[in-house]
Order: sequence, then structure tokens, then C-alpha cells
Amino acid sequence: MDSRSPPPKENALDLLSDFCQPDRCVDAIVERMTSRHHYQIAPIDSAEATRLQQAGREVYVADAMPGSPCRRCLKDAEIDDELILVSHDPFNSDSPYRSASPIFLHRHACQPPDLDELPLQLTGRQLSVRSFDTNEMMIDADVIDGEQLDETIRRFFNDQRSTKLHVHNASRGCWATSIMKAE
Ligand SMILES: [Zn+2]
Repeated sequence: MDSRSPPPKENALDLLSDFCQPDRCVDAIVERMTSRHHYQIAPIDSAEATRLQQAGREVYVADAMPGSPCRRCLKDAEIDDELILVSHDPFNSDSPYRSASPIFLHRHACQPPDLDELPLQLTGRQLSVRSFDTNEMMIDADVIDGEQLDETIRRFFNDQRSTKLHVHNASRGCWATSIMKAE
């Protein structure tokens, strides 16, 4: 290491001390801790998921992990879990981008997740992230490694026009979840 370089910082508090004045540090820490609350993860609507779970006929039994991601609980199926493969349209209007895509759901009702953290189902995969305005017109898109999802969400929502993102598996195109900008 260059002897003139300062020693590496050990933790977030040390890093914050570089740029925030004492009376502003608390605000800066809170900002970092609550960054995920700048948006809301919006998995498939519960009523729609229940309807699909009751109607789905294409039944699969999970035989590998990770492999079959349920889009209601946002967890990958455990070995021997039963899933259904159904078609889901996450749009609310007649946008030219409107389309349905295949999604897995657990065959039997499961619970939407507690969403304080981005789930591993998303952060562990290559993703296509698509940004839409209030008319559901696409204004940006990117293919990313799932570990970049948090920074990508915030980058897209920095555009004032962007109100909603759709996250898809990059390879097969399956819709994974929507993400809404917090009010
Ligand atoms: Zn599930």
C-alpha cells in the first residue's frame, strides 16, 4: 500500500465520518439504513395469485434448487414442492408494452413475504429491469446481475418520470415482481 494513503475504513460509521458533519451524521446514517424504503416491492396481487393457484393445471414438482421461483412468496421452491406454471400480465392499461409471461406459483396458497430486504430469489439471478412512467410506457431498461438490483432501482427512480419497474429473469423472460416508487 502507498504509505501516503490513509488506512482502510473499517465500517460504515468510519466512511460516513469522511463526508458528514457531526450534526448531520445521524441524518446520513438514517438515510443509508432506510434506502430500501424509497421503493416498495410489489409481488403478484394476492387475489390474482389465489385465482391462478386454484385454476392452474400445469403442475411441476421441484427437483432442484434453486430452480423454480414462486412469484407470490418470492421464495424458490424446496425439493418436492408442487408448483403451477401460469401466465401473468402485470400491466394495468393498454400500453403497447403490455404482455403476459410465464410464472411459477406454489400450487397451494403461500404467503407474501416480509419485504424489508430484497429477496435472494432476485439478487441471486441475472435480471432484466424495465422502467415505466405513469402511462406504462417504457423509459429505460437494463440487464444486470441481481446484486446490482438495489442500485439499479434507485438509478431508475432518480428519473422523475419513472414510477414503476418490472423485474424479469433475463434469460427466460419470466416476470418476477414489480417495484413501485415510494410516495
Ligand atoms: Zn410461494
